[in-house]
Amino acid sequence: MIKVVFLDIDNTLLSFSGYVKSSMRDGFAKFGLGEYNDEMFCTFERINNGLWKQLERGELTFETLQQIRWNRIFEALNIDFDGVAFERFFRDNLFSNAVPEDGATELLEYLSERYVLCVASNGPYEQQINRLRVADMHRFFKHFFISSAVGAQKPSREFFDHCFKCLRESGMTDLRPEESIIIGDSVTSDMAGGHSYGMHTCLYLRGQDKNEELPSAEYRVKELLDIKRIL
Ligand SMILES: [Mg+2]
Repeated sequence: MIKVVFLDIDNTLLSFSGYVKSSMRDGFAKFGLGEYNDEMFCTFERINNGLWKQLERGELTFETLQQIRWNRIFEALNIDFDGVAFERFFRDNLFSNAVPEDGATELLEYLSERYVLCVASNGPYEQQINRLRVADMHRFFKHFFISSAVGAQKPSREFFDHCFKCLRESGMTDLRPEESIIIGDSVTSDMAGGHSYGMHTCLYLRGQDKNEELPSAEYRVKELLDIKRIL
């Protein structure tokens, strides 16, 4: 029986893609970098996802990612601008930006009446907490497992060891991984991490179809509210 639900934040509860598009549009105008178009978002996604995969594999720190991310993107877009300065603008805005994914608040209301809810996010602690507060989602959670504070990130075993240690110390003494489920949009961090730890897993497809074989994703949902049929 499931007792604990772990939820990812970016592109699961809050729309990261929507944030990136609006901050690229605003930032390009602010710094005179030319007109933004959605093809440029694809370049962001390709480079950013590549860097996050390296981070998940432990090949890169978050600090280094911040140093190189926008320089790589500008290089690919043929834009001559200081990527570190743009990163600062990007992160400052992100701190207070919280656009919920469709159905996210309703899902949290439903789940919080039935399960112990935990955040499981790779990112900076203060920023992620603030964004949950802005979205009025903070109140649904009992625990906030965020990589910069945990000292390890999804999908590593250390990250989940920390989560279960805290949960057991908080009174769920005998909690086992199979009594929990992780919901997230990332196959490499949320699904791979949860699956190899022995948790149940639910992949959020953000409206898309994914037909490939994904042994780590036990459930797949196109919409967040589809999760009500599983839990
Ligand atoms: Mg995510």
